Amino acid sequence: MADKLTKEQRHHCMSAIKGKNTGPELLVRQFLFSRGFRYRLNHPRLLGHPDLVLRKYRTVIFVNGCFWHGHDDCRYFRLPKTNIGFWKSKIERNKARDHREQCQLAAMGWHCITVWECQLKPQRRTQTLESLAYTLHRIFLEDRKTRTYGLPAEDDARIAAEPAVEYGEE
Ligand SMILES: [Zn+2]
Repeated sequence: MADKLTKEQRHHCMSAIKGKNTGPELLVRQFLFSRGFRYRLNHPRLLGHPDLVLRKYRTVIFVNGCFWHGHDDCRYFRLPKTNIGFWKSKIERNKARDHREQCQLAAMGWHCITVWECQLKPQRRTQTLESLAYTLHRIFLEDRKTRTYGLPAEDDARIAAEPAVEYGEE
């Protein structure tokens, strides 16, 4: 049993290193696509290489394996029986890096959503995906609200005046 788990966990590690097309990530992609959301995958220039980037929603989504990213209080997160020290420090570093990158992304104005692998197991999948869609819609509405409040009429007038000056100089 322990050996089997270890093998599974190793497999998760390999998927995480390659960072592409793991089962859980595909589930999220297929669901979002079927609901009309459009996204980019593994944006190369964006910090932390999020699995999905939804520019329209200013949102990045990480689909994280519970072992590799050290999901707290999760029954799928169990350290292998061998090399415990090695795995422990490796996963602590991963967690610290995830946290740091998400703070930086948030500072750049991105909403960060993490979907955990265990939340995509069959019995929780529907609920997880539905609440993901709900969260995205809510983010979209709240962003629009913020933008409307942030643009006073005076600014609009100033922006409209600028192109006229540029044309005049040509
Ligand atoms: Zn988990």
